[in-house]
Amino acid sequence: MNWDDMGNIYATLKGSENLPSIAVGSHVDSVIRGGNYDGILGVLTALEAAETLVSEGIKTRHPVTVLVWTNEEGSRFRPAMMSSGVITGKFDRESMLAVKDDDGITFEEALNNSGYKGDTSNRFSSENYRALLELHIEQGPVLEAENKDIGLVLGVLGMVNYEIITRGQANHAGTTPMPVRKDALHAMTEIIRHLHHELDKLDPDLVYTTGEFGGSPNIHTVIPDYVRITLDARHKDPRVIEQVVNVVENLPTEILRCKVSFREQWSRHTVEFNPDLINIMEESIKKLGYPYKKMYSGAGHDAQYIADVVPSTMVFVPSKEGFSHCEEEYTPLEQCWKGANVILHTLLALDKK
Ligand SMILES: [Zn+2]
Repeated sequence: MNWDDMGNIYATLKGSENLPSIAVGSHVDSVIRGGNYDGILGVLTALEAAETLVSEGIKTRHPVTVLVWTNEEGSRFRPAMMSSGVITGKFDRESMLAVKDDDGITFEEALNNSGYKGDTSNRFSSENYRALLELHIEQGPVLEAENKDIGLVLGVLGMVNYEIITRGQANHAGTTPMPVRKDALHAMTEIIRHLHHELDKLDPDLVYTTGEFGGSPNIHTVIPDYVRITLDARHKDPRVIEQVVNVVENLPTEILRCKVSFREQWSRHTVEFNPDLINIMEESIKKLGYPYKKMYSGAGHDAQYIADVVPSTMVFVPSKEGFSHCEEEYTPLEQCWKGANVILHTLLALDKK
């Protein structure tokens, strides 16, 4: 077992031939008040597959590496998917090491204290790895609703994230006549209504959320002068995301006497997983006889960064009532082991090629 300079952990079973490794794994960190399945189930099922190879005396041609990505959720140190992002060149290593948590501790300090700071030469790379398989909970209600045991993941949805701000004028709640008020919160409600009205006309598979919101002065006797929200929109087709961008860029610059501004915070393109690997996984699912559905992931995963350097794909297992990032997270045991079986059989099929 070893670890790299970003704290990613690798445990490798030797193969019978001198070939690149097949990696299987996920992450073990969680969000605050998260559940027991997000990430960790992918690591446990990877270990289960590796243990089965050992206990059944199955020799693979390729080495098999169980992999744990560090800081996938970005709960303590932002951004999410930090360590897979660094080793695939998405983020600059030095600036990530300098990221501080709420107590002012840097990622580098925490990494040094953890004892899991390893060597750059141990990093996952396209030379040393043949493929990455990741099992994860769906984190949505679709598989359960459609009575499917397995989600065959084709890729990760593209998204765009905007910050939208309304600015008005704070003033006395009792003495300012209604027609002259510059109420930033009232203006923002109009913006949100407008967004729903326009975005609902676009593709039915579009999902969007105004999830973060805040304002000032947030006092019950004062007219709000500042409100900020975020808009997160996701769809697999970049043309639909482009239509969302159009709606935002055509927001009125002034509404109810308040100024409206917006700024794109980040965006990502849809990531398509490796078609050959998807085919191999689909054949394995069919052989096992499990009901399955092809789908895209609305959530981000390390595999989407790795997909740029090494063929990657994912398998989903159902989330009860779609719960995720909360303590209610649950996947029935039977579906956990069916997922582990898909990982094992995909790995074995891939090993033969
Ligand atoms: Zn996760």
